[in-house]
Amino acid sequence: MDKTFEVIVVGGGFAGVAAVKALGRSGVKVLLIDQHNYHQFQPLLYQVATAQIGVSDVTRTFRGMFQRYRSATVLTAKVEAVDVHAHTVTTADGDTFHAQIMVLAAGAEANFFNTPGAEEHAYPLYSVTDAVRLGNAMVRALDAAQREGAESRGVHVVVVGGGPTGVETAGAIAENFRYVVPKYYSDGVAARSSVHLVDMVPSILGPFSDKNKSYATRRLQQAGVRLKMGSGVTEVRPDGVDFADGTSLPSQIVVWAGGLKAGAVVAQSGLEQGRGGRIDVNPDLTAPGSTGVYVLGDAANMTDARGEKLPQLGSCAQQAGKWAARNIHADLRGGTREPFAYLDKGYMAMIGRGAAVAEIGRKRLQVQGPLAFLAWLGVHVVLLSGNRQRVSALISWADDYLTHSRSHVVLGNPD
Ligand SMILES: Cc1cc2nc3c(=O)[nH]c(=O)nc-3n(C[C@H](O)[C@H](O)[C@H](O)COP(=O)(O)OP(=O)(O)OC[C@H]3O[C@@H](n4cnc5c(N)ncnc54)[C@H](O)[C@@H]3O)c2cc1C
Repeated sequence: MDKTFEVIVVGGGFAGVAAVKALGRSGVKVLLIDQHNYHQFQPLLYQVATAQIGVSDVTRTFRGMFQRYRSATVLTAKVEAVDVHAHTVTTADGDTFHAQIMVLAAGAEANFFNTPGAEEHAYPLYSVTDAVRLGNAMVRALDAAQREGAESRGVHVVVVGGGPTGVETAGAIAENFRYVVPKYYSDGVAARSSVHLVDMVPSILGPFSDKNKSYATRRLQQAGVRLKMGSGVTEVRPDGVDFADGTSLPSQIVVWAGGLKAGAVVAQSGLEQGRGGRIDVNPDLTAPGSTGVYVLGDAANMTDARGEKLPQLGSCAQQAGKWAARNIHADLRGGTREPFAYLDKGYMAMIGRGAAVAEIGRKRLQVQGPLAFLAWLGVHVVLLSGNRQRVSALISWADDYLTHSRSHVVLGNPD
């Protein structure tokens, strides 16, 4: 295999895939390196963990995605080192590749903020592997509760982090306890179980309007989620969580949706790291202090053309990938790099059946309830990669909505 390319992209998430597609379309010789041979759609991982949809609905092979782009090459390998001055990338297998332009789009990982016990005992939700692990843990805890019979105290879940990921995860688990678990487990396992959503800040869904926050809070509580806001987690133990206010919650499962930091590749690159360990990129998405290096998506602190900070969202990463490809084209074929002009489509969060919140567009048009739920469905069907994945997810959602059945198996090791 060639060792020299015009462009190397590290990481095939939203940003990397968008960049490779755009570069491949215009015949640029590009190498995508990812530790997996598939792209994973993070926004629906919580639905994989709760068996609403299957692993194959949120994954798609890179080779399938790029087969029509003859100038694009895919390599499955973990990147261990990048040299942003020599423009080389070295993989765990010991191979080194060189390119004129490097794109670091290796995403983020859970940030446990040095909370004792969190890394050992909590379940992050940032990859398909994480989702399968969490789903397995849930099944094991439910099975154990059923085995214990009337003696069982049920399954208690604490979700740490009241942002969209935490809200969606807590809502989905609560719905499972209310509608799905009673269908499959006897002995009142579901009735004795609980879901707590906790955060150190006073309210959930930080960037949303007060109206949407109140709606989401009410709907979560109606679904059975207990909220504990305003006190940080000080320790995660195998059997519970301790808080700064001196209280504790017993729990067999702690889901960590409490923060992110840039992944190891960025930390190792030697580029100066800003908030969350991310790189404060220039307006044209290049990294300061280097030449021909772009940093995109969750690995970067990006700004829009007005200089406003952009959130860590799939839509930002995807648009940044496309934009970087344009600028790279200018670097390689002649032209001028342009500052990233982000088209702000707003954000949304699903709470549960028929309930979601959305703030649409730059003007933040506020929508709640069934309309937001339908908007959420529409946006996620469009965003999902692959027609088979879209159809399959739609069938699963319809089945879930109408019957509360779970036809998906949570695969994985029983550890
Ligand atoms: C649970 C969850 C729910 C979310 N919900 C939403 C939502 O509803 N809407 C929304 O807009 N955004 C949502 N987001 C955020 C969105 O998914 C991210 O902002 C987006 O995925 C970032 O894209 P990225 O390309 O920067 O990184 P990622 O998608 O994280 O991709 C990074 C890629 O790099 C690869 N990689 C990492 N390290 C290495 C290495 N050393 N070697 C090789 N490959 C490597 C990984 O395998 C991965 O494929 C959610 C995120 C999570 C975790």
